[in-house]
Amino acid sequence: MTTTEPATITSPSGRSHTPVVCRSRDELRSARKALGGDVAVVMTMGALHEGHATLIHRARERAQNVIVTIFLNPLQFGPKEDLSRYPRTFDADMEICTAEGVDVVFAPTPDVIYPEGDPGVRISAGPLGNVLEGQSRPGHFDGMLTVVAKLMHLTGGTSFYYGQKDAQQLLLIRRMVRDIDFPAEVVSVPTVRESDGLAMSSRNMYLTDSDREVALCLSRALRAGAAEAAGGPSAIRRAARAVLVREPLALADYLVLVHPQTLQDVPEWYRGEALLAVAARVGTTRLIDNTPVAVGPGGGALDVFSDVPHA
Ligand code: AMP
Repeated sequence: MTTTEPATITSPSGRSHTPVVCRSRDELRSARKALGGDVAVVMTMGALHEGHATLIHRARERAQNVIVTIFLNPLQFGPKEDLSRYPRTFDADMEICTAEGVDVVFAPTPDVIYPEGDPGVRISAGPLGNVLEGQSRPGHFDGMLTVVAKLMHLTGGTSFYYGQKDAQQLLLIRRMVRDIDFPAEVVSVPTVRESDGLAMSSRNMYLTDSDREVALCLSRALRAGAAEAAGGPSAIRRAARAVLVREPLALADYLVLVHPQTLQDVPEWYRGEALLAVAARVGTTRLIDNTPVAVGPGGGALDVFSDVPHA
């Protein structure tokens, strides 16, 4: 068995815990078998930060066992995307997993997940996978759902934790679980931000100091939009757009106020929960951010949507 033995760290709860590291399916199978009780799973691409740590923490609070997967899934990166430069920080990731009391870390290479190479059969995200992120990243969500389905099976988890930060991904995973009857509970966790509002992301490592200043306009736009929630959809869109246009170094891809289930623009008469979402290129980095918003009198930003399980 290939194991990495990081220094044992004591967690804030006083519990010390070195996760078992599994690289192969066999290793995962035997580590999984040794876990009694329910198993919560947090899927990541590595380069862990406080956003990931929060997901793990929530999972830890609610389940007897936690598995973290660290896998850079080639299937969800396009040919011109940043797979080769994506940050790889395994030792630091292990420190976070250790401090958070993770039981098992599954960190396979692509040949473990795709032993026969490119899988001929994939999960199709359908029309919801073609809008917003899917429009800029063709095939991304089919690749994402395919690996999520595989990791759900391989880990044998009972609950799965995902960040609201990737709202479209979260929606599609919920849809997949419902539409093809996966025996899985999907739990969402609100977006974790830096103190200045920037949504935490592994890709923030690419930002120069000046890029980082520019990047703040995404969360600022969302806050400005949400602050106008009482005025209805066009007031929200107008306020958010006004912030983005004042920052010419952020090249906006989209800024939308959409229905949380259909991802279609909400009409002017709409009142209720909606998703205000933005994507923009800052320097060489494409960033996304969003906030759930209650549209209408007394409305404003929400952490997560009210009708779904969240931690
Ligand atoms: P990634 O490693 O970027 O694929 O993210 C793994 C999981 O962590 C996904 O469910 C993300 O939505 C979640 N995540 C990433 N960044 C954040 C954040 N800032 N706040 C909450 N969850 C996050």
